[in-house]
Amino acid sequence: MIRDRSAGKNWAGNYTYRARKLHRPSTIEQVQEIIVNAPRVRILGSRHSFNDIADSSELVALEDMPKDVSVDRAANTVSFNAALKYGELVAALNAEGVALHNLASLPHISVAGAVATATHGSGVTNGNLATAVAGLELVTSCGEIINVSRGEPDFDGLVVGLGALGAITRITLDVEPAYEVRQRVFEGLSWEALFEHFDEIMSCGYSVSVFTHWGEAIDQVWVKSRVGDEPELVEDDLFGAVAAAVDRHPILGLDASNCTPQLGKPGPWADRLPHFRMGFTPSSGDELQSEYLFPRRYSVEAIEAVRALADEIRPILQVSEIRTVAADRLWMSMSYGEDTVAIHFTWKPEQEAVEDVLVQLESSLARFEARPHWGKLFDAKAAAIAPLYERLPDFVRLAERLDPRGAFRNSWLKTRVLGE
Ligand SMILES: Cc1cc2nc3c(=O)[nH]c(=O)nc-3n(C[C@H](O)[C@H](O)[C@H](O)COP(=O)(O)OP(=O)(O)OC[C@H]3O[C@@H](n4cnc5c(N)ncnc54)[C@H](O)[C@@H]3O)c2cc1C
Repeated sequence: MIRDRSAGKNWAGNYTYRARKLHRPSTIEQVQEIIVNAPRVRILGSRHSFNDIADSSELVALEDMPKDVSVDRAANTVSFNAALKYGELVAALNAEGVALHNLASLPHISVAGAVATATHGSGVTNGNLATAVAGLELVTSCGEIINVSRGEPDFDGLVVGLGALGAITRITLDVEPAYEVRQRVFEGLSWEALFEHFDEIMSCGYSVSVFTHWGEAIDQVWVKSRVGDEPELVEDDLFGAVAAAVDRHPILGLDASNCTPQLGKPGPWADRLPHFRMGFTPSSGDELQSEYLFPRRYSVEAIEAVRALADEIRPILQVSEIRTVAADRLWMSMSYGEDTVAIHFTWKPEQEAVEDVLVQLESSLARFEARPHWGKLFDAKAAAIAPLYERLPDFVRLAERLDPRGAFRNSWLKTRVLGE
């Protein structure tokens, strides 16, 4: 079993893990032994979060565990080692002719890390990536191995676990027959058209993303349609926005070669649903991110509230993305209980300036019950978070039951969720 003395930095490079040990177990017995003996511990995913959510005095990376991807055709599920990245999982799914219901903007993230923070893609009928979880294997802080499946008590609390409940060692996800997707980009949508036709625009494809830098008009609308399953958007006009004639990057002026193919060319689901291609730098690579999700009934008012801050936002922004996420029942999901809209910010790497703007943004968005994305930068502390999550008391009880010695409690959890 290898052990590093330092865990280095997160993907964005804005956070250096304080952990003094990074364990790399290769068997479940080693995972149990490490966890039982660690006073404070967390599992580290692919390090794509922008804050200290994954940090502790000891960290465990599960990448050296056997991958063991197994598709159960009768149950329509796939099970695998939780450290697997979506890009790696997709290769195994393609070989079996099956697919997931959705993906985030990038395939580079670990499935366990994505699920723990309720990471999402877009689509009015698509739940976040955690909603595909059908079962979990978890090692608790006293070394017990627990297997839970959808429908069992507390399952809805376990899935979006914020890394606070134990080490997820295996995940089972729902799969469906593989499908093809076409992706088209429309440019120059007016704000008036977006507000007047918000629901129509966000549901004109299986997954729709609106990119803007809060200027005079909206920069781009990315429409991903499932081939054959639903009416496809074939016109070259989307409420006045014009179909792009070449591939685009969501950030104006950046080279589109790290983006998935567009121009309506059909291709496998996993080569179209993420915006960025595996093996290439996702997004701009030199950035910070924040995101807020709020009930869809506030869409237009909340977007207007952000637009009113355009002069403060624009100098430190690379691009914003507006997406939709369907409601779910996962206690700590940002889409718990209601269909949501997500407003995302890809910032320039200027942390202090970003933190200043976040205070203003959160004060403007508070009246829309906006929940910050757990894995990105936000200002809200536990007192502001608590009223947004009605199942939070149940989650705290679950954490106390599974982790009575508080080994998985870290400073992020205390500051942002528990409030101690
Ligand atoms: C370029 C970029 C694009 C992004 N795009 C999107 C997007 O489209 N949509 C979106 O919603 N988010 C997006 N994100 C955010 C990202 O999906 C989340 O931050 C996610 O948590 C990253 O997963 P990770 O494996 O890197 O987790 P980490 O940052 O390593 O860890 C996150 C949390 O998961 C826990 N964890 C990880 N593995 C385990 C395990 N096996 N058992 C228990 N706990 C575990 C950690 O302890 C920690 O609490 C993006 C981030 C980047 C950098």
